[in-house]
Amino acid sequence: TLPPFSQSSSSPLTSVSRFVSTLVLAEHEGGSIKAPSVSAVVAAKSLSEDNSISVLLAGSGSSLQEAATHAASCHPSISQVLVADSDRFSYPLAEPWAKLVHLVQQKGGFSHIIAASGSFGKNILPRAAALLDVSPITDVTEISGSHQFVRPIYAGNALCSVRYTGANPCLLTIRSTSFPVPSMPADSKSNVAPISQVDLSAFGEDTICKSRYLKHTSQDSERPDLGNARVVVTGGRGLKNAENFKMMEKLAEKLGAAVGATRAAVDAGFVPNDLQVGQTGKIVAPELYMAFGVSGAIQHLAGMRDSKVIVAVNKDADAPIFQVADYGLVGDLFEVVPELLEKLPEK
Ligand code: FAD
Repeated sequence: TLPPFSQSSSSPLTSVSRFVSTLVLAEHEGGSIKAPSVSAVVAAKSLSEDNSISVLLAGSGSSLQEAATHAASCHPSISQVLVADSDRFSYPLAEPWAKLVHLVQQKGGFSHIIAASGSFGKNILPRAAALLDVSPITDVTEISGSHQFVRPIYAGNALCSVRYTGANPCLLTIRSTSFPVPSMPADSKSNVAPISQVDLSAFGEDTICKSRYLKHTSQDSERPDLGNARVVVTGGRGLKNAENFKMMEKLAEKLGAAVGATRAAVDAGFVPNDLQVGQTGKIVAPELYMAFGVSGAIQHLAGMRDSKVIVAVNKDADAPIFQVADYGLVGDLFEVVPELLEKLPEK
């Protein structure tokens, strides 16, 4: 049989046959590993102190190589970086990626496979689990042991302790907001993991893909990404229309915040649906979450209740949002927001 991975560095291949050895599926963009994937490494580290962590990257071209270099030094716990360089992986489609995970697992024999619970991980992991004939555990928020996890159920209204009793590998998606990346001491940057190329000769013919890459659209915004922002300013149906919603954008600009919205605001067409926070939108846990004209339905709370400080402005004193708010103001947002905008200094 072929050796698992051919190495581009001279250091010996890190052993992947330990009791706990984890493969982290990493997403990259512009030559860097995305922050949620680094959180997946943090989660992997909490599975076991002596966990051997391999990071799998796929793509093509120079940005992949740059991302591999970034991955090698982005967290001191990473033992090796595995790189699958092929045009098949130019776009993160589930079919080729799942097949890649299957191939790498066959050679590496990992005990765990982890991805962050974003659209990348949620797309790939279930298909990879089917190929590996195991059941994935999704949206893990706490790791209590190598096979013991906590995950939210009933839209975050209850937490469930789950014990994985299936065969290896144990597949997990983790909520990146529950595994923050600590700031690394400068000397940890000198810890550079070896980079190995995945031998794709056994990949075989491409299967007939049911999905096809069409295009990637993203909003050109100077504002921080909603999923990782330190401050989020969210507007609800109380804003009444798209024109009024621009107040949220102005406020976000002054605070260096990301803009969020409730599903009611999205459904009413005030903003596009990539701003939706909640059970069926993004899960956020910023240091400061400001909600204006948001009632606080359980489906909305499911996406923001882990925020460190919650500020709510609502004209209805009985609005459920006040039950989770650290600071609540009963008032008309059309008076409060202009006043805030006036008093906040220009950025
Ligand atoms: P409303 O409930 O209509 O509340 C508007 C609030 O604005 C009210 O509390 C009102 O008092 C206040 N207000 C009005 N005018 C003013 C003013 N001038 N000044 C101050 N306050 C004012 N929702 C989400 O947000 N995210 C999800 O991911 C999500 N997923 C869902 C999934 C399912 C399966 C279902 C069934 C629902 C989901 N919902 C989700 C919808 C959710 O149930 C609520 O309908 C929605 O969150 C309500 O949005 P809202 O608070 O903007 O609107």
